Amino acid sequence: MKKYLVLSLCMMAFSLNADELKLVAVADKVWAIVGPLTNRTPENLGNNATFGFVETKDGVVLIDSGGTYLGAKKIHEKIQSVTQKPVKYVINTGGQDHRWFGNSYFSDLGATIISSKAAREDHERRLSDQIGRLTALIGDEKFVGTQEKYADEQFEQQKELIVGGEIFNIIHAGQAHTPGDAYVLLKNRSIVFSGDIVYVERMLGVGDQSNSKSWLKVFESMASSKPKIVVPGHGHPVSLDVAEKDTYNYLVDLREKVGRFLDDGGDASDISQVDMSAYSYLFNYDTLSGRNALKVFTELEWE
Ligand SMILES: [Zn+2]
Repeated sequence: MKKYLVLSLCMMAFSLNADELKLVAVADKVWAIVGPLTNRTPENLGNNATFGFVETKDGVVLIDSGGTYLGAKKIHEKIQSVTQKPVKYVINTGGQDHRWFGNSYFSDLGATIISSKAAREDHERRLSDQIGRLTALIGDEKFVGTQEKYADEQFEQQKELIVGGEIFNIIHAGQAHTPGDAYVLLKNRSIVFSGDIVYVERMLGVGDQSNSKSWLKVFESMASSKPKIVVPGHGHPVSLDVAEKDTYNYLVDLREKVGRFLDDGGDASDISQVDMSAYSYLFNYDTLSGRNALKVFTELEWE
């Protein structure tokens, strides 16, 4: 009886922690907020990603606003646990729900929202599709309050934002996980917030909105500044080496192996023959590995 109680308490603690946002100090006044590696669930409010923020003397700059209105509130609580300064700017690094569905929460508090023009277009284009998928996973109750709020300021390829003496270089180098992905570089600190250009610890997703070929170029652009710390779109802050291993190398290998399979006359129905088990250490390998291979197969057929 006692044993059972201890076990169930442990499990409860685990399930609570699994959906918690974790605040991680990256550098002085620079933070990552690390969400779970799982899919969207009612418990994580759609915040199944990594976010970040920088506290400047003139206020906070937040990178990505969370997956729902309630999820944005959770992110705000994390910010408020270290500073009472207002959130002045929110940068959306891409088109995925967790990058921007929390915008209206921060906009109501007076924040200016920034995204690339391509992300803004992607937000509008995939809005109803993304709402449908998200609510199917988290339920209408957890979606409550969420309203589309598009960026107040848009840029084509890059934008320099200076807040409280801190310089943010926001760069859209092309399509990666989504058409409008951008990374945010703090050049003076050698830190980059990559959004969905970088996934670590879990397998990335190549979806219909992705382009694996262009993703590699975008990664190379991000890596060219040789940042000391990469705050990824999923997973904990890492060195550039780890970002390369879990994202870049995986994509290169996937494209090479699927390309060879295609050249050898392989059929899409046999895609599971493409061996990507070297990356089975990544969370979500079982659910995403085959799907990614199939998407790349389709891409390569047209390249
Ligand atoms: Zn993502």
